[in-house]
Amino acid sequence: MTPSGQDLLDRMAGALARRRVRVIDLTQTLSHSFPSIVLPPEFDQSAPFRSEPISRYDADGPDWYWNNFSCGEHTGTHFDAPIHWITGRDDPRGATDSIEPSRLIAPACVVDCEAETAKDADFLLTRDHLLAWERDHGRIEKGSWLLMRTGWSKRSDATLYQNFDETGLHTPGPDLSAVRFLVDERQVIGFGSETIGTDAGQAAHFSPPYPCHSLMHGAGRFGLQCLTGLELLPPKGALLITPPLKILRGSGSPLRVLALVEAAD
Ligand code: MN
Repeated sequence: MTPSGQDLLDRMAGALARRRVRVIDLTQTLSHSFPSIVLPPEFDQSAPFRSEPISRYDADGPDWYWNNFSCGEHTGTHFDAPIHWITGRDDPRGATDSIEPSRLIAPACVVDCEAETAKDADFLLTRDHLLAWERDHGRIEKGSWLLMRTGWSKRSDATLYQNFDETGLHTPGPDLSAVRFLVDERQVIGFGSETIGTDAGQAAHFSPPYPCHSLMHGAGRFGLQCLTGLELLPPKGALLITPPLKILRGSGSPLRVLALVEAAD
C-alpha cells in the first residue's frame, strides 16, 4: 500500500474504533437483465450473467438452495486486471490471481462530471478538469483510484445505459491527456467509471484507441466499471476495497466494491 493509503487506513482504524465509519456499496446487482458490453459483430461477445437453480428446498435438495451461475469476466460491476489489455499481457502480477493483495485497498478521488455529462453524453474528462479538481480538493495522491462520477448508473433502461446509435456507443470517459496525467504524473492505482467501459464510448476512434485501457493496463494499473452510488462519496477520503475473484489467470471479474467513509463526529 502507498503511504497515502496507509495514512487513510490508520485514520479509518481510529474512526472504526469510534464507530464513525460508514460502509457504502458501489455495486450494481448482478442479474441477467443488467446490460453486457456489445462489441462490433466481427469480434466474439461476452456472455451475460445466467443463473440456474440446482435445488431450492425441493426434491433436488430438500434442505438447501443454490444455483449454478455463469458470465463473462467483464460482467456487471467488475474489475479489469492489467492482462486484460495487450499492453499488460506480460505483467507478471497482472492477473486476478497474481495481483499483490495490498493494492486492492486504496483511497479514492471522485470527480463529479454529472452536470457536463447531462449536457453531452460524449463528455471527455481532460487533464485541465483534473487540475481544476486538484485546486479545489488537493492533489490526487499516488496509489489513489480516480473515479469519474457521471450519473450514468441512474440510467436503469438498458438502451439508454449503452446509448448506441449508428456511430457506436455514446458514453463519457477520459481523454488521452487525462489518462497520461493520471498514469504518469499522479500514478493512480486505476480508473473507475459508472459506464460499461473505463474508456469513452467513442474511444475506438481516439489515437491511440482506448487510451484508458491501453495506458492504464500497460502501466500495471486497474479498471472498475459499472460502479454506482458515487454520489454518496466525498471528493476525497473514501477507502475502496476492490478484490476481484481469484480466477486463475483471470483478466478481471465481477466484484463487490465497498467504500469506507469516515462519518462526521
Ligand atoms: Mn472490463
